[in-house]
Amino acid sequence: MVFITGDCHGNFRRFGRRYFPEQETMDRDDYIIVAGDFGGVWADTPEENYWLDWLEQRPFTTLFVDGNHENFRRLDTFPVRTWHGGSVHQIRPHVLHLMRGQLYEIMGKTFFTMGGAKSHDVEDGILDPAAPNFRAQQSALKRSGRNRFRVLGRSWWPEELPSDEEYHTALKTLERTNWQVDYVITHCASTSIALSMNRHNEADHLTEFLEMVDRRLEYEYWFFGHFHDNRSVDQKHILLWEQIVQILREEPERKRQHRSCCFLSGLSFGKILQ
Ligand SMILES: [Zn+2]
Repeated sequence: MVFITGDCHGNFRRFGRRYFPEQETMDRDDYIIVAGDFGGVWADTPEENYWLDWLEQRPFTTLFVDGNHENFRRLDTFPVRTWHGGSVHQIRPHVLHLMRGQLYEIMGKTFFTMGGAKSHDVEDGILDPAAPNFRAQQSALKRSGRNRFRVLGRSWWPEELPSDEEYHTALKTLERTNWQVDYVITHCASTSIALSMNRHNEADHLTEFLEMVDRRLEYEYWFFGHFHDNRSVDQKHILLWEQIVQILREEPERKRQHRSCCFLSGLSFGKILQ
């Protein structure tokens, strides 16, 4: 089985038995994929490690693409392994970061992944803690109630957007597939989708790249997060936040045959959390 969900921001409550009873019949070869803003690799605190160990103890394997709210410096400290045909950071043996521009084969289907996104919640600026007036700037912003700022290396990292090398890797991967995959998993969306979500959204290098990929690539479904909503944008593009949607299930009578079972209307989304 393969399930997909959206932004977690370090809160993994939705994977508990109460909200996700399907796990009773799942094992390590069943997967949950988080479409970015996983948020579980952030500050290396005992609490964070408790939750990563808790995820490791779930019966399934947790996979995630990165979003914009990840600590990329810390993510890069984990070992890189090859897994199902693509590169991953191994956070725990069964908690894996699906890296950018990779292709994985899972249950006979191919998944192309491209994490990253530009942060929206930085209108009040990105402060540099090495700047001499850092503390003064921070207090002035807080005093005036302008809390939409982030701090370089503490709550914001420039690696939230892919590097030239990561775009290059992605293109090479797509060439190798002849521009045909089964699923695309990203955090961000293409420019046309991003602009249709909210008139304040802006195009950037990544949304333009995804726009080009969307035009050229043949695929069945494209899942993404970032915009904090659950919605089928159209027949192919599925925005997820806290809902968990099953996309692949095993046919009981013919094991090894897997059937796509994505639900497209708002009503048939797999789960609604309270
Ligand atoms: Zn988010």
